[in-house]
Amino acid sequence: MDRQDDSVLIIGGGLAGLFCALKLAPKAVTVITAAPIGRGASSAWAQAGIAAAVGPGDTVDKHVADTLIAGDGIVDEAVARLMATQASDRIHDLLDYGVPFDRDLEGHLQVSREAAHSESRIVRVRGDMAGRAIMQALVETVKNTPSIRVMGGYIAEGLIVEDGRVCGVEVLDESSGEDRLIPIRGSHVVIAAGGIGHLYEVTTNPAEARGGGVGMAARAGARMADLEFVQFHPTAINVGKDPAPLATEALRGHGATLLNKDGERFMVPLHPDAELAPRDVVARGIFREVQAGRGAFLDCTEAVGKTFAEEFPTVYGYCMEAGIDPVTQPIPVVPAAHYFMGGIWTDMDGRTSLPGLWACGEVTSTGAHGANRLASNSLLEAVVFSSRVAAALGGETLTDAPADWSKGSKDSGRIEPRPDSEPMKLLRKTMSAHLGVLRDGEGMKKALRTIMELERDANTERFHNVLATAKLVAVCALNRTESRGGHFRTDYPNEDPAWKRRTFVTLEQAEATIPSLLES
Ligand SMILES: Cc1cc2nc3c(=O)[nH]c(=O)nc-3n(C[C@H](O)[C@H](O)[C@H](O)COP(=O)(O)OP(=O)(O)OC[C@H]3O[C@@H](n4cnc5c(N)ncnc54)[C@H](O)[C@@H]3O)c2cc1C
Repeated sequence: MDRQDDSVLIIGGGLAGLFCALKLAPKAVTVITAAPIGRGASSAWAQAGIAAAVGPGDTVDKHVADTLIAGDGIVDEAVARLMATQASDRIHDLLDYGVPFDRDLEGHLQVSREAAHSESRIVRVRGDMAGRAIMQALVETVKNTPSIRVMGGYIAEGLIVEDGRVCGVEVLDESSGEDRLIPIRGSHVVIAAGGIGHLYEVTTNPAEARGGGVGMAARAGARMADLEFVQFHPTAINVGKDPAPLATEALRGHGATLLNKDGERFMVPLHPDAELAPRDVVARGIFREVQAGRGAFLDCTEAVGKTFAEEFPTVYGYCMEAGIDPVTQPIPVVPAAHYFMGGIWTDMDGRTSLPGLWACGEVTSTGAHGANRLASNSLLEAVVFSSRVAAALGGETLTDAPADWSKGSKDSGRIEPRPDSEPMKLLRKTMSAHLGVLRDGEGMKKALRTIMELERDANTERFHNVLATAKLVAVCALNRTESRGGHFRTDYPNEDPAWKRRTFVTLEQAEATIPSLLES
């Protein structure tokens, strides 16, 4: 192996990938990221902030308790406790990297309240700017770290496995116009490739979040977990934009109401808390109205009114861009795929079941979220576990970076992802129709058949990865004959105590169950 071949390869340049790279310094790291660094990552779009029990009166125990309730019975408590315990240290790391978290007059971190948190616990930056500010600080620090080489605009499409050990990645330079894969070897591979939102027709995620990382690991034989659990944000702004912009939950906290086109407050008969019901209940209420052709609108005209631009500048901007004045008009909304609780199974140090392969961030299923993520726990999970991957890799033999390592950084010049192909459009439509907010056995079987037909005709590694992820979501959702957290089946609308457990599966195991699932 020559010098070029023994850096740690990190797939993904979001919070998890960049934090891991920084924590590994001065060891040689190559970050491979599908978009130019800082772009194409959900991390940069996070509006609320990071959950951490650092405020007065808050404790790790309370944070863990809230996480367990949100996760609906299947959170791994030890993992959630580890995450909550390390939150404060990781926030201080981010401060050291230059993240300008809000502070009070005495210099203490300012924390605010968010739905389903029993205490004020969200560390923010200037209202809704957390994601952007965190990523700006990390990108800047990465650019000034000589041990990190960045390959921006390169898409990882497959893992190189030799003698049962992951030892490299095959990447595509999409801007080259050729579909030739370039092999890159490394001492270890860390997947930090984010979520799967773009598998759905309506999503808040960037186009890069299409399950490529999950699919790649699954196709290499890695153990996966909890793949049936997708979280839908109830109120994406429904103006035909892809990705869909968010109308923050704080608007409902302010008293905004949900109406259909006949002016009915449809959440009132559905839940005692009406618009303030849990996220998944509101998502289902809105979805049913939209499906029935009655539409759903968030009316902020009375609750927020004239102060909208000042109080919610980001949402105001999205609405005005779409020709809706939220001061006087209700905002059309629809649920959107937002966060993936499932993913590549890892232990508490980010180790996967495959030697040489590690993972961190949304691409993983550590067990911290169970069936439903507690808001603002995902940025936290990304920093805690990427840091643990770096620490665990520190015990392995790694190479210090040569002085000129970061000078090897390159950018493919790619700015925007290619538009979706027709098969990708069909897949996204299918996932939204049958594996979305409301699911049932017949619909999911139909989806699974479509996915398998698409698989027969697929001719790129990239699309095979995407389809493997979609197939795993479909199989695991069909298999779980109950409703829990983000997984709601109209044919099994209740929780079943026998299903109060996580799901662990390999792609091979999932595929073996397909004939019986389709026949049942
Ligand atoms: C609109 C929005 C608001 C949110 N708000 C919050 C919030 O307030 N608090 C919170 O905790 N969470 C929030 N979340 C969730 C949170 O942002 C994500 O879970 C988290 O940022 C995931 O970080 P990550 O590093 O794992 O993935 P990402 O930040 O998505 O980064 C993934 C990286 O992998 C790259 N990539 C993907 N596929 C490939 C491939 N095949 N090859 C090479 N590179 C690849 C991408 O380009 C990207 O660089 C929000 C999400 C969205 C979409």
